Amino acid sequence: MMTGLELYIHIPFCAKKCNYCDFLSFRTIPSVHTAYIRKLKEEIAYCAAKCEGRSVSSIYIGGGTPSVLEAELIESVMNMLFERFCVEEDAEISIECNPGSTLRHKFAAYKRCGINRLSIGLQSANNDELRTLGRIHSFEEFLKCYQGARMEGFNNINVDLINCIPGQTASTWKKTLKNIVMLKPEHISVYNLIIEPGTPFFRMNEDGLLELPDEETDEEIDEFTRSYLKQTGYERYEISNWSKPSYECRHNIGYWTEREYLGMGLGAASFFDGMRFSDTSDLQRYLELDFSDPDIEKKLHIEKKELSREEEMEEFMFLGLRMTRGISATDFLVRFKVKVESVYGDKLKKFTDLKLMEKEGYRYRLTERGMDVSNVIMSEFLLSEENDKGEISEDEK
Ligand code: SF4
Repeated sequence: MMTGLELYIHIPFCAKKCNYCDFLSFRTIPSVHTAYIRKLKEEIAYCAAKCEGRSVSSIYIGGGTPSVLEAELIESVMNMLFERFCVEEDAEISIECNPGSTLRHKFAAYKRCGINRLSIGLQSANNDELRTLGRIHSFEEFLKCYQGARMEGFNNINVDLINCIPGQTASTWKKTLKNIVMLKPEHISVYNLIIEPGTPFFRMNEDGLLELPDEETDEEIDEFTRSYLKQTGYERYEISNWSKPSYECRHNIGYWTEREYLGMGLGAASFFDGMRFSDTSDLQRYLELDFSDPDIEKKLHIEKKELSREEEMEEFMFLGLRMTRGISATDFLVRFKVKVESVYGDKLKKFTDLKLMEKEGYRYRLTERGMDVSNVIMSEFLLSEENDKGEISEDEK
C-alpha cells in the first residue's frame, strides 16, 4: 500500500536577509510575487498530473518567509493544491511565518484556506540578540504575532529558537526558553547557530568580530534546554525538536523516515519514485519555465539522482538516528537484506561502548550525550568514503 505523499512549497522571499542565513531566499521584491506564484501554480498543476491516485498527508509552506506574501497569494496556492491533489482530511498543513511580516488578517486567511499549523521564527526573546542576528522584529512584536495567531484559533504552533548566538550567555538563553515555555506552544525547535560560509557572520567570524559562547556556556545551554523542556512537559523526538505529546511535526517525521515528498518552487528538493532531485534555484530561469515544453522535466528538475545502495544505507542511518527513537535493526534487515551489524557493527559497538548510543530491543539510538555530538557520530556512518574527520575527541567522550 502506498503511504501518503508529502508536499513542500518554497517561497524564497524575505523582508531582509538575516546575518546567519544561507537558505535560498532573497530580499523581497513585491513586483515579482505575483509572477512567482503564477509559475508555482503551473508547477503544482504539472506535478499533480504525475501523482494521480496518491493522497497527500502533509503540506509544508516554507522559505524564505512565506508570510511576506500577500495573504491572497497564499490562499490561491492552497486552493490550487486542494483542487489538484487529493489532500487527506486530517492532513497537517503548516506555514512558516516571521513576526514583523505577519498581520492578523493573514492568520484569518490562512485558517480559511485550510492551514492548521504555524511555525513562527522567533530565534531569541532578547532584543539585543535579535539585532545581532539581523532579525527584523523585536520580542514584543513576536508576542503580538503569537497572541494574534491564538486568537484566530491556531492550536498547533511551533516556535523556532537559536542558541549559541554571539554575545549570548547561559542566563539570557534560560530567560528566552522560560519566556517561550510560559506561552505554552505545542512545539519548540532549538537549533545551534552554525556559521555558514557566504553569510555576513562567516566574514565577521573570520575577522574575529564574533564573540561566540565558549564550550562551557554551550554545555550549560544544552543541559538546561534538555532538563527544562522535559520538566515542563515537552518531549524531545528529534535532535532539535521538542513537542507536547502528539504534536510532533508529522511532515518532518516524514523526511526522517524517508517518506516520499514532492517539493515545488524555487530550489525545492524532492524524493519521489526512488529519485532525489531539486527544482532549479535560478529565479529568472524559474520564472521563464514553459510547462508545455516537452523538455520541461530537464529544465525544471536538476541534479536528478538515484541513490546507490550504500547511499541508501547511509541515509537510513543519518535520518533515523536524528530521531530519539533511533533506527530499527529489523527495518534495516527487511529493506537491505543484510543485518545492520554486518555493515555497521564496529561503529555501533564503538559508540555503544562510549555510551553515545544505546540498544534497546531491536532499536539503536543516540543517548543524550550522543545527540550533543551527533554531527561527529553521523559522519562515521558514511560508507562511500573513509573519513578521518569523524574521530571523537577525548573531550567529547
Ligand atoms: S527570515 Fe529565515 S529564511 Fe529569511 S533571511 Fe532570515 S533566516 Fe533566512
